[in-house]
Amino acid sequence: MNKLSILGIPHDDNSSFMKGPAEAPPLIRRELFCDAYSMWTETGVDLGAPDRLVDHGDIQFDGHGDPWDLIERDVGRALEPGDPLICLGGDHAITHPIMRAVRRRYPRLCILHIDAHSDTYHAYQGNPRSHASPFARIMEDGLADRLIQVGLRTINDHQREQFRRFGIEVIEAGRCSADLRLDISTPVYVSLDIDALDPACAPGVSHREPGGLTTRQVISLIHSIDQPIVAADIVEYNPRCDFSNMTAVVAAKLLKEIGGMMLKTTAR
Ligand code: MN
Ligand code: MN
Repeated sequence: MNKLSILGIPHDDNSSFMKGPAEAPPLIRRELFCDAYSMWTETGVDLGAPDRLVDHGDIQFDGHGDPWDLIERDVGRALEPGDPLICLGGDHAITHPIMRAVRRRYPRLCILHIDAHSDTYHAYQGNPRSHASPFARIMEDGLADRLIQVGLRTINDHQREQFRRFGIEVIEAGRCSADLRLDISTPVYVSLDIDALDPACAPGVSHREPGGLTTRQVISLIHSIDQPIVAADIVEYNPRCDFSNMTAVVAAKLLKEIGGMMLKTTAR
């Protein structure tokens, strides 16, 4: 079977309200590899098999150069072997430079973006790189053929305008049925903001938005994807807001289920 790559991107300089997501990658890894849990996915993939998981470590931000160029470069390197890649944030701003690298490798791409927020502000608090803006940059740069946003429950008029401008497809949280299936015909990038989940399932986020998806709904949606999942990010886990690492366990669980589907859908 093919391998799964993971890469930590501990960066939260563009968070608008509070810091913390930069501390997430080692805590998600700790739960991922913790003996308390199985490395088998629900879809029958053993992520604990020898050499199945390749950990590229965390990007080192040393304050020199543009962090966006550093992220693009290191994600490009992690993609080089041709294995599917899951990036661990960090806040959601990092998805823009990640996509610059992913798009170069995958010319046909649909982004499945799971989030309480649409993150399409032209700029937020004057910052075009805000974690509230990555999907405006991604669509301006033509880094995806399609953008499907699922789980939203904070839409305002500016964002509705952005949906029309960029042709974004939106399935609001209130319309996410248990058997939601998406019709996708290209390779898929999954961008998972942990705050898509209801705060009851995942309290460790900077912006708790009640009325969200259950962990099971997100897993079912991921399991329903029938196109190759070539890369993904799991972002916005904020350990400073968590209780007993509950949300880190949820992030690790979703990492496993996304990873298992990646290995199944990209098998060579
Ligand atoms: Mn987000
Ligand atoms: Mn969000």
